Order: sequence, then structure tokens, then C-alpha cells
Amino acid sequence: MSHLDTKISELKSQGVYRILPINEGPCEAIIHLNGRDVINLSSNNYLGFANHPRLKKAAIEAINKYGVGAGAVRTIVGNMDIHEELDQVIAKFKHEEAATVFQSGFACNAGVIQAITDEHDLIISDELNHASIIDGVRLSKASRAVYKHSDMNSLEEILKSKRDQYQEVLIITDGVFSMDGDIAKLPEIVKLAKQYRAMTYVDDAHGSGVLGHSGRGTVDHFGLHGQVDFIIGTLSKAIGVVGGYVCGSEAARQWLLHRGRPLLFSTAMMPSAAAAIIEAFKMLEESTEYTDKLWDNARFFKGKLKELGFDLGKSETPITPIIIGDEAKTMAFSRKLLERGVFVSGIVFPTVQKGMGRVRCMVSALHSKEQLQKAVNIIQETAIEMHIITKKAV
Ligand SMILES: *Cc1c(COP(=O)(O)O)cnc(C)c1O
Repeated sequence: MSHLDTKISELKSQGVYRILPINEGPCEAIIHLNGRDVINLSSNNYLGFANHPRLKKAAIEAINKYGVGAGAVRTIVGNMDIHEELDQVIAKFKHEEAATVFQSGFACNAGVIQAITDEHDLIISDELNHASIIDGVRLSKASRAVYKHSDMNSLEEILKSKRDQYQEVLIITDGVFSMDGDIAKLPEIVKLAKQYRAMTYVDDAHGSGVLGHSGRGTVDHFGLHGQVDFIIGTLSKAIGVVGGYVCGSEAARQWLLHRGRPLLFSTAMMPSAAAAIIEAFKMLEESTEYTDKLWDNARFFKGKLKELGFDLGKSETPITPIIIGDEAKTMAFSRKLLERGVFVSGIVFPTVQKGMGRVRCMVSALHSKEQLQKAVNIIQETAIEMHIITKKAV
């Protein structure tokens, strides 16, 4: 393994070698990280469902009824009634014809993209799309093109010059971009797709449970129901459990049950996970209190940081990047915040462009205003010390 040792030494000398923090309890607003309590501003548990009593109860009851494992892939005998129920619950919640659940959002992109395209087709992808989309595209036999981030001229240029050379064209975008928190220009993308006879594919991992009525996602946010061909969502972020799904036509579902490789070659989701997720959707159907709280917290936190003069980039969602720029300074800022009791992850090249280092704060419905204010105070004090912002005259 000396070749790996060499590579690991390189990571260490570049200062990017990681030691994973260890959380010794549930994912809450305050977590017990590496032996101490810190304010958690780094999880995707937007609605606080990961440790919610109603989801836990549903999961425990399902364990008693079904056991802990599905026992097989969905296409053999791992397809329990609870998986079928979950597919239907999601389709109904999302106002789409059909939904198919996968083991994760990652598995969804790895399986769906290759299943719906072939060598006669072209995939056009936003340059900032998630790694699982990039990997999913690699698994397809289709040709590829990348357009500049959310740049509709760049997308149209590709459509104009290449559309006629291919049978099917698939445009893929994140619904909400995870590093900047900006929302895809979905109405424009759908319009171009119609004009150039292309299919649309939205990965709404950070939009589902966050945007739209009671978290129905980016498609709902823009009122585009029935106009996006493939809507991917994750059950691992706002929904608080684990899994992914694709919504779309009944034909898409039928096809994926035959050609969506993670459904054919990887064991079905734990039945207890399916039960907890069904409960989560029930809660979102019953009330908007969870998403209301999330947005109320996000507005509060972002408002405070903006007042202090922080650069929050293009964020339009609870994802709150504080742009620092320099890579080393970004990581030092993140480390110092952790020492002072606030956990925000530093994100630098190659995850984002060089010189665009940022700490990414993830606000959730779990946080109290007091916790958020305390985090803001610590962020402010640390940033003044590190000359990230200047002290305002009172
Ligand atoms: C997190 C994420 C995924 C992966 O979802 P998991 O359910 O955690 O595997 C896929 N796509 C995007 C855009 C994501 O942000």
C-alpha cells in the first residue's frame, strides 16, 4: 500500500488531510462533538427530523413488524409493502404521477441517469452540479456538455449548436446549489428545454423539505408541476433519514424498475427507514410549522450576518456561506470557531473555485434564536480578530 501512503503524505503536506470529527449523540442543534458541546451549524437536518420522536416511534414499530433488513434487492423479494407505500406517499406529496425510492440520493443519480440515456443522446449539465450527478453522467454512454453555472446563454448555445446531432437531450441541474445556496433558474431551463425538445432533470436534494409549500421543493416553488421530467430528491437531508427518490411519469418508474441498477443490484432500504420517512411526509402534509421555523431561523441568522458586513455570496436559501476567499484563512477561521463552540465546516478548492473559500453555515428548524445569536456573536468576534470584517463604529 505504499502508493496510498505516498498520496496520504501529499494530503498532509498540502494541509488538506482530514481527521473526522466524532459526534457522540444524535444530530441536534447542540451536538456532543469530540467530547464537548458545540452549536451545530453543519448538518443537513434542516427540519430537525433526524431525532424526532414521531419518526423514531414509526421506525421502532416497523422494526418490530419487519425486522431490520429488507433481505433482498427490490426487484427480487426486497420490495416490501412499506416500500410501495413510500413510493406512493412521495408521488402524492410531490404532486407527480409516480415516484421510485432508491437507497440514497447518490444511488439515485448513479442509477437513473445511465438508465434514461444511451449512446445516441446528449447530457447537458450545469458546471456546479453535485458530485453524484457527475458520477452518474460518467456511467452513461451518452455524450456530454457542461454549461456555465446558471448561465442560460451558455445553455442555449450548446442546445443551438448540438441539439440536431442527437436523439434525446437531457438537461441536468441541481435545484438548490449546495455550496452557494442559490436556486436554479428552472423556469428558463424548462422553457429552453421545450423550445429545443430536451428532457429536464432536477436534483432537488437541498430543495426538498426546504422550498415550496411545506417543502415540496424547487418545482413547487416555481409552480412547474408536470413540466420537469425527472425530479430527484433525497430522504437523507430535510427528511432526516436516508434514501433518495425519483419522481416523474409512470413510464419512468416502470423503466427504472427494469434498468435502474441500484434497484436491481443493491438491497432495498431498511423497512424502518421507510416507515420513519412516511411519518415525516405525514408531518409535512399536516403542517407547515417545520418549514416555517426553518425559514424564520434562516432569515434571522442571515439578516444578522449581513448587518455585520459579511459576504454571503448568492445564497437564497438556509444554506449560508460566509465567503472568506483565501484557503488557509478559511480553514483557520473554521478551526477557531470550533474551539469557541461553533461547528461550521470550511469549504475550499477543489470543492469550490480557488480563492472562493468559505465556511458554510447550515441553519435548521432546531436552532433557537438564542443559539443562533450566540453563534453570530462568536462568528463576529472571531472574524474581527482575523480581519475578515471590520469593527463597526457604534
Ligand atoms: C447530498 C446530495 C446528494 C446525495 O444524497 P444522499 O441521499 O445523501 O446520498 C445528491 N445530490 C445532491 C445535489 C446533494 O446535495
